[in-house]
Amino acid sequence: MGHDHEHDHGSELSETQRRVRALETILVDKGYVESAALDALIETYETKVGPHNGARVVAKAWTDREYREWLLADGTAAIASLGYTGRQGEHIVALENTPAVHHMVVCTLCSCYPWPVLGLPPVWYKSAAYRSRAVADPRSVLREFGVELPATTEIRVHDSTSEIRYLVVPMRPAGTEGLTEEELAGLVTRNSMIGTGLP
Ligand code: FE
Repeated sequence: MGHDHEHDHGSELSETQRRVRALETILVDKGYVESAALDALIETYETKVGPHNGARVVAKAWTDREYREWLLADGTAAIASLGYTGRQGEHIVALENTPAVHHMVVCTLCSCYPWPVLGLPPVWYKSAAYRSRAVADPRSVLREFGVELPATTEIRVHDSTSEIRYLVVPMRPAGTEGLTEEELAGLVTRNSMIGTGLP
């Protein structure tokens, strides 16, 4: 017949999907996890938890002076007040970027990251290259992310740990005075809250 099914990948599972399925089957069979619990967890990180949460925090800090002060003084509580709590968010410190200081976050040991406000970390955040170079030469790492800072701006690199996670509050872009909090949130990118991007 000569019909080659290899060409038809449309409905097939990817290698990763097959591995995940196999792993899930084993874990459920052995009674380590419940399918429903796993689904709830995945749904949480797909739809509820992500950088849009952090963006709301930043936009509120940009527009509400009292909230901003609270956020910088007690990040965990100010963030929790918007309903963002949970794993890897037990102790979040907010770092405010200014013309004088630019904050950038890394986890040199593994991939600690403020899940409740940013979701799961991007692949590059977990890479050995980022983890070592962010500390050794942050300015050139930033350049690779397309961020060129004035020589007069000090770059401060913060190492996340299992105890402390950081959320960078980027500088509010010029010319955004007339925007609503919601519109402002739309400008806040994930990378700008890690310190590897600008809004
Ligand atoms: Fe880590």
